Amino acid sequence: MKKFFEAIGNLFRTLFGGGSKPTPAPTPAPKPRPVVIRPEDPQDAADIKPDTVVMIVSEMEKVIIPPNEPDEAFVKDIFEEAPAPPVNPPTPTTPTTPTPPATTGGGTAAPTTTTPATGGGATSPTTPTTPTTTTPPKPAAPASKGRFMWCLDNGHGKKTPGKRSPLFDDGRTRLFEYEYNRDIVQRIREALDKHDVKYYITVPEVDIDDFLKGRVDRANDLKSDLPKIFVSVHGNAGPAANSETWSPASGIETWFFHGSARSQKIASIFQKHLIEKTGFRNRNIKSQPTGQFYVLRNTNMPSVLTENGFYNNKVEGAEMMKPEVRQKIADAHVAAILEIEKSGL
Ligand SMILES: [Zn+2]
Repeated sequence: MKKFFEAIGNLFRTLFGGGSKPTPAPTPAPKPRPVVIRPEDPQDAADIKPDTVVMIVSEMEKVIIPPNEPDEAFVKDIFEEAPAPPVNPPTPTTPTTPTPPATTGGGTAAPTTTTPATGGGATSPTTPTTPTTTTPPKPAAPASKGRFMWCLDNGHGKKTPGKRSPLFDDGRTRLFEYEYNRDIVQRIREALDKHDVKYYITVPEVDIDDFLKGRVDRANDLKSDLPKIFVSVHGNAGPAANSETWSPASGIETWFFHGSARSQKIASIFQKHLIEKTGFRNRNIKSQPTGQFYVLRNTNMPSVLTENGFYNNKVEGAEMMKPEVRQKIADAHVAAILEIEKSGL
């Protein structure tokens, strides 16, 4: 199925290479907002069904959404709630205000500890309590120089089924996607603490199931003086005979909400830095004309989902176990965030 996807990408690149405007593709237009909550939507690239149409484009192509398809209302909507620019516009070259030592640098997290049993009985992993009754903490320091509020999402919980590599040769080790995603988000967080960038960790809890709606609700409900951007961090899985079989698929790809030009631009910037910093195979940026990942569909802000290597590829999975490789991936996310903070969208 990946070949099919790549074939589509190659077709697009062949036909429309060099950034020329593509002609309409035989794909339905995206559904208008508000979108419908559909739990069957894929969570990430590994969940996409083989017959799904996926558009694959170079991150440098300006326009990939066929004419008449862009949901302009959506693009407008997601920034309607954005207030006027910060009182003090960012001055890219001078990080003037040092981070107060008493804080963690403006980051904030969902209102729960790492123990899921806290605050409303999330003891049952299959029915995590959505914190609809407790408002996530308002980000501190609205006078920040930051341009956006980055909602960082770690994708899955420890109790999410699947989402793990086959056993490595030592017979003991597996790469668990939830752990990988969390480690990278934590590394991003530590780097952002050194900059005046505002972020919000959607799901700091570990012992939790899919919790898709919770992730989205927390980000959507977050009160922020800055426009929000949602970044979901994942590892990928390629086609394989079974869960204990390795896959030949490899590389990094970044997904965006089909129909949102801003999401596409954000995805392009993340993908560029990810490939530059890791040297992983470039699988380009992608979107699904229909369906779309749950977290991309249902967030009311520009959103992207990074797929940072294939944990069920034996070679790449081993690389993804290395702290230095994880740091490169985190650094790439940070570089993308800082570029967007500096230059805007
Ligand atoms: Zn995932």
